[in-house]
Amino acid sequence: MLDNADVVKLQQIVGEENVSVRGADLEAHSIDESCFEPHLPDVIVWPNTVEEISQIMRHANERGIPVVPWSGGSSLEGNPIPTHGGIILAMYRWNKIVEIREDDLQVVVQPGIVYDNLNEQLKRLALFFPPAPGSSDVATIGGMVNNNSSGMRAIKYGVTRDYVMKLQVVLPDGQILNVGSNAKKTTSGYDLVSLFVGSEGTLGVITEVTLRLISLPEKIAAVLAVFDTLSDAAHTVYECIRYGLDPSAVEILDSHTVRATNLQQGLSLQETPTLFVEFHGNEASLEDQIDYLQELCEENNCIDFQSAMTADTRETLWKARKEARESIKQSHPGWAMISGDVCVPISKFSDMVDFVHDLSERTGILIYAFGHAGDGNLHTEALVPRDDKELFERGMRTTDDIVGHALALGGTIAGEHGIGLGKAQYMRAEHGPTLELMRSIKQLLDPKGIMNPGKIFPAE
Ligand SMILES: Cc1cc2nc3c(=O)[nH]c(=O)nc-3n(C[C@H](O)[C@H](O)[C@H](O)COP(=O)(O)OP(=O)(O)OC[C@H]3O[C@@H](n4cnc5c(N)ncnc54)[C@H](O)[C@@H]3O)c2cc1C
Repeated sequence: MLDNADVVKLQQIVGEENVSVRGADLEAHSIDESCFEPHLPDVIVWPNTVEEISQIMRHANERGIPVVPWSGGSSLEGNPIPTHGGIILAMYRWNKIVEIREDDLQVVVQPGIVYDNLNEQLKRLALFFPPAPGSSDVATIGGMVNNNSSGMRAIKYGVTRDYVMKLQVVLPDGQILNVGSNAKKTTSGYDLVSLFVGSEGTLGVITEVTLRLISLPEKIAAVLAVFDTLSDAAHTVYECIRYGLDPSAVEILDSHTVRATNLQQGLSLQETPTLFVEFHGNEASLEDQIDYLQELCEENNCIDFQSAMTADTRETLWKARKEARESIKQSHPGWAMISGDVCVPISKFSDMVDFVHDLSERTGILIYAFGHAGDGNLHTEALVPRDDKELFERGMRTTDDIVGHALALGGTIAGEHGIGLGKAQYMRAEHGPTLELMRSIKQLLDPKGIMNPGKIFPAE
């Protein structure tokens, strides 16, 4: 366990002013945006250099002290909660662009830079990093890399992993590694970049990221399509993908989510299942795509289709979608939100949506459903009063059902939020014996198990 001598050692490494054991600082790093119980770390450290991180890791490794890297703290599965105490390595001050390699469409960043800030700075070069998580104003690149985050634009542009070219990583024993290449493709050995992406701080500390960028689109158009039933909306999504449309976003909101959005965002959308669709391209291609989408929507009993939108209206809609979770939260003050993030093959998306709808009716647990429908990614939020133990347990059990059904459909338990604490118990159901291979990799890189312990793997 960490003692006073360890705190003194950390102060020697990073300077006294960059170490804190103050209650308020510990509390601020004890919880993320999930429904999981807070857990206090023993100490917060704000490192200044990669060499300092290396020394911190060496010391922690020798002493067997847990280390949890922390960036925006916006995870939804308890990913950065320091369940075993120890050191929080706060990375959010590492928030600079190191180098823009404009000619190669690449950027080198420190891991604490926030997604929106990065794209704001890239705008003048007409470049961007596209995954667009709903939490884009707080999610950092380090957090996104470690959760392999994605979001609204993943359907066209892919997920974080598709953009990471190089990483600098400090291993638990203090070694500083550089993995990856600036070349667009490589077949040179095992793909270590991909190994660290999505590792949720369990393998090492990421201290620098090189990202591939793309050009901003020439034009953007958005569509709002309203349906009587969630099935019709979900089936439209399937046909949209099946028949070759190329949207840059396809978001679904069930009627509960639209209601919460109206209430909290001051909108007056029809409170029935709704699709927000966006296209990137040139004038002619956008018109063709929208006409085709309209046909598909009408064939699926769409009751309202709006495509002639000003840029302001479009922005309002996307802001409302991004704030959907917050709107749900504000609509139920003091309630726990039990989050789900399953992702299924696109042909099974309607089935998944119907299942969640029926589950909510069958169990009497209010479940909101929305998400990045074009990827087959359904976010669910089961809402239960925090102080009602019995209801909380029932709410948690709906996750068993949702996850079980997604796996039965050939899907995954976590589309983009990572495993953290929340989904660890389902890892064996998804991966079977290959979970042991993952454990062996963890053991190889982190033999003492100091990096973000208690995450990803179910208790043995
Ligand atoms: C309203 C809302 C909407 C959201 N929408 C989306 C969405 O659309 N898509 C999506 O993917 N997610 C979404 N999320 C979840 C979350 O915002 C993302 O997973 C985000 O990328 C986490 O980034 P962060 O900087 O907050 O990371 P943190 O929560 O601080 O950390 C995430 C994980 O990475 C580890 N870590 C952080 N920095 C480092 C580092 N430098 N080195 C090693 N490990 C590190 C942590 O230990 C932790 O395990 C949403 C969350 C909220 C609250």
